[in-house]
Amino acid sequence: MGTAELTLPGDLGSGVGMHALLRELFPLNRSLTGEGVRATLLALGKRLPMEVVETPTGTPIFDWTVPLEWNVREAWIETPDGRRIADFAESNLHLLGYSVPIDATMSLEALRPRLFTHPRDPDLVPYRTAYWAETWGFCLTRRELDSLPAGEYRVHIDTSLKAGALAYGEVRLPGSSDEEFLLTTYVCHPSLANDNLSGVVVLAALAEALQERPRRYTYRLLWSPGTVGPLCWLRRNREQLDRIRHGLVVSCVGDPGGFTYKHSRRGDAEIDSAVAHVLRTSGVEHVLRLWAPLGGDERQFCSPGFDLPVGAFSRTPADEFPEYHSSADNIDFVRPEALEESLAMLLEIVDVLERNETYLNLSPYGEPQLGRRGLYRSVGGGSNVEEALLWVLNLSDGTKSLLDIAVRAGIPFATISDAAEQLAKHGLPQQVS
Ligand code: ZN
Repeated sequence: MGTAELTLPGDLGSGVGMHALLRELFPLNRSLTGEGVRATLLALGKRLPMEVVETPTGTPIFDWTVPLEWNVREAWIETPDGRRIADFAESNLHLLGYSVPIDATMSLEALRPRLFTHPRDPDLVPYRTAYWAETWGFCLTRRELDSLPAGEYRVHIDTSLKAGALAYGEVRLPGSSDEEFLLTTYVCHPSLANDNLSGVVVLAALAEALQERPRRYTYRLLWSPGTVGPLCWLRRNREQLDRIRHGLVVSCVGDPGGFTYKHSRRGDAEIDSAVAHVLRTSGVEHVLRLWAPLGGDERQFCSPGFDLPVGAFSRTPADEFPEYHSSADNIDFVRPEALEESLAMLLEIVDVLERNETYLNLSPYGEPQLGRRGLYRSVGGGSNVEEALLWVLNLSDGTKSLLDIAVRAGIPFATISDAAEQLAKHGLPQQVS
């Protein structure tokens, strides 16, 4: 399970294209480190201009240290009647992540504390790791565990834990300004589809789409093993973090549930306002949450020393769907149409931030006469477009952005932005930032 079956780069713009990439990446044994992460980055690098950065084992990263690199050749248990169970070759979920090597024979009683089952469903294999403890173990279904006869079991784990490196991948897409938009996801889960690969493929599709567009912001898209990966990135970029204007941690974006957005630690960042506005005005089912220091890599980007304007964008958040961290989070659980809708939503958020400007009304004494300028289509029209003209004129005092105005008016950003452009053509408001 060392290398991927690499298919030719396809079109990631569709849900079907993203799902095909997800299926290609699914078998790889990703973890905090190791060849599965590199193979994943290599597959993405065939489609995107990706730089892979390796940080050596033992490197101190703030309060952490880059761990030993973990790789797996094989792992299985042999029952007293000679059957192989919990075989890594069948599913990488069977092996406790970061298991140390062992080859030993022991009784079922001695083995039992090393065997992990799903807390609720007897037919699911759970996903468990032990990154920071020197231990080993296997994951299997409760049904299989309950069927095991007494007797001597051979356990065989052929893994290596050696000095190596932690790898992450970054795609940097320069814009007309060096202000940055950071989009990030993790690449440390093995064969799990929604809680991990959905974010990986949606971010890849987003990078592909952004490559084709004119950009104001410089985009930095990051695929890194959780927690330590972002910390390596933050350490490397420490001197230029003040360039980051907006950021999103993207995860769990392939399930059929509604959207969830967790605000940045600041809570009032432009990204917070943009995501909330897009979700509200697009009519999709969604939940907005305040910041909490729980969840994913936003905990690092929003730690108090950095306090970056980074929110967390997902559908059903990790650990809130029943399939979470189990063999049920498989490729069928992730829906192509959900991936596609998530991508569309992210592109809309990007569009809002790309087009958000602040204007100053140059004719602030009374309302300017719009009819004379052909900007009022009919007397007393009251359409959304005409309302938008009045909102832009009234609130453009040089301190409120178009997004602020869209939020206050409850009118989609695109309508407000179009109205501002129309007015600007007639010299009414002037762009100030
Ligand atoms: Zn997870």
